Amino acid sequence: MLNIILFGPPGSGKGTQAEKMIEKYGILHISTGDLFRYEMGNNTPLGLKAKEYMAKGELVPDEVTIGMLENKVNANPDAQGIIFDGFPRTIPQAEALDVFLKEKNTEVTLLLALDVPEEELTKRLLKRGESSGRADDRDESIIKNRIQVYKSETSQVFDYYNQVGKSVSIHGVGTIDEIFESISEAIDQACC
Ligand code: AMP
Repeated sequence: MLNIILFGPPGSGKGTQAEKMIEKYGILHISTGDLFRYEMGNNTPLGLKAKEYMAKGELVPDEVTIGMLENKVNANPDAQGIIFDGFPRTIPQAEALDVFLKEKNTEVTLLLALDVPEEELTKRLLKRGESSGRADDRDESIIKNRIQVYKSETSQVFDYYNQVGKSVSIHGVGTIDEIFESISEAIDQACC
């Protein structure tokens, strides 16, 4: 199974590149942010809980996030591989993912980190906020907090997988196709 963690700060282009990866590799895409937005849109108890955190740009607690992710994977037993987009965002999430995949006799193949300068991230997110309908993309102080949370709580996940030789940094500025070419090269080198 090709299990790719698509990693990088908010606004680094994970969603855009995930679309191209689905097309080329035919694997399942799971975005925890999208799953939370779906739950929120349906006013489910999970959605209402997530909303408290998302509205401030904070992380939803690990136990809630991990349970939701595992349910989604379990609901797709025939997947040939998975793109994990926006997950794991903490070390406990990464540890839980490793245990969960091991139980399924598989593992993380690669973590691909999109590297984009901070000023560029803010610019992209504010632009996306004009059309995405996402409240957390419209407010500059929430954007700043999301980037801060990425630095303080999430960036260590890169090192966690780097220790086992699975992390690859991708230059995330350029055209969508250029960035996708770097992604494809890294995937093709790691697998198949
Ligand atoms: P995203 O769409 O990936 O930018 O995520 C939007 C928001 O959803 C984040 O700011 C968090 O509040 C929440 N979220 C998404 N994924 C996670 C995760 N793996 N752990 C905790 N919170 C998450």
